[in-house]
Amino acid sequence: MKSKKYFLLLIGILVSAVCTGAEPTVELAASPKAKNIIWIIGDGMGPGAMGMFMQGVRLTDLPQYPDKQSVLERFIDASVSGFYFNHTYNTIVTDSAGSATQMATGALSRPDYVGIDYQGEKKVNLLEEALSRGKSVGVITDSYVADATPAGFLAHTKSRKDKYEIARQTVQGAAQVVLGGGKKYFEGKENKKLLKTARKEGWTVVENAKELAKVKKGRVLGLFAEEAMPFYTEMDRYEQTPTLKEMTQKAVELLAQNENGFVLVIEAGKIDWALHDQEAGPAMWEMVNLDETLAYVWDFARQQGNTLVYLNADHETGVPVFHYRHLDSETVKHKSAQGEMLYSGNMDYVNTPYYQKIFDYKDLLYYVYPKFKALPPQEQTAEKLQQMADEAFGGHIDLRLEGQVPDYAGLIAKLNEALGMRWATDTHSSGMLLGVAYGPGADGFSGVYHNTDLKGKFEKALGW
Ligand SMILES: [Zn+2]
Repeated sequence: MKSKKYFLLLIGILVSAVCTGAEPTVELAASPKAKNIIWIIGDGMGPGAMGMFMQGVRLTDLPQYPDKQSVLERFIDASVSGFYFNHTYNTIVTDSAGSATQMATGALSRPDYVGIDYQGEKKVNLLEEALSRGKSVGVITDSYVADATPAGFLAHTKSRKDKYEIARQTVQGAAQVVLGGGKKYFEGKENKKLLKTARKEGWTVVENAKELAKVKKGRVLGLFAEEAMPFYTEMDRYEQTPTLKEMTQKAVELLAQNENGFVLVIEAGKIDWALHDQEAGPAMWEMVNLDETLAYVWDFARQQGNTLVYLNADHETGVPVFHYRHLDSETVKHKSAQGEMLYSGNMDYVNTPYYQKIFDYKDLLYYVYPKFKALPPQEQTAEKLQQMADEAFGGHIDLRLEGQVPDYAGLIAKLNEALGMRWATDTHSSGMLLGVAYGPGADGFSGVYHNTDLKGKFEKALGW
């Protein structure tokens, strides 16, 4: 009896040693090392936006998702997930620069800082570390290259506003692949000769999808827009602009030529922009954009078996939710007339077809409103605004303008009222974030951590 008890105790100790990683030999055997890292950052992509996208795909009929399941959902199902915080030195909320800096360098930093710690000291980032160990590195964004998130991996400056300096450091840096928007920062003001210098130093500089497709080896700097690249919903108007997925495919093709492996950071940057604007439709299409890219990256990782894929966010933007509400009698009449189901007479739990309205969205009110304001004053009527908005919505969302033309903030409020949505903020929250890891070394990304822990986690996954 006694010996059996001890035997069980011994088993218990062994199991807990494996679970906590306290026994190094067991852990080594259990987690093979990664050769490559592909890190996808959804800018501003909090758990609320991820959930809204995955639930939206389940509850609508989108041709992209005949089985009503997003790649993101399948990826999370097959991976290791953990929650993490992103607070910076002495602040609870952060921005993209401070967060990217903390993720890239592992050092506690401040909002606005790029590649330096909170005391102003330059810190070596994961990409520089990978380079010094013989790997190739790349950074892609569908925003612009000198923007805060890519900058956190490409540069070291006191402020994210030093965009021309960030562009110079990008060219002088050792990344092999840099793709995104923001050409003006590489050829304007004090950088008039920068692209010439870049070519001299071995960069192939490309400006459209066709030129990018032709690059088969070497270093490539792709600048596909003067500033940020287009929103996903606008891409049909920009045939010569590569998508995030196309940029990713080319980057992987080039970086995988290095026998020592590579580290690639991909930012889906426009999720944040749409969430700042509190327009759920465009935000969800940016999630589709991320989903397409994730599908390609995950396929690559499954084929290779030596690639760690990590998906996360720099911070949460907007915090969108549907919410239930007690309606006033006029709104009850209005909704009942539209055939909407209410509960207890005046309770609105938001009818499921509202997700379809969000996914029908084709343009942004952000673009529509200035076009409306540019019309001759006599044409600026509430009816005209509703009509122009409906063109953007790809269907009808009754904004209930009641003959009044609101200002832009008022229009966005009307839209969200009509959709049964609330947003916590039009900036960033301090909300906890979700990080998802797949492949060798993924085990290290479970639990609750801080974004300064990420660099160490990647280094461990790489066996450094
Ligand atoms: Zn951000």
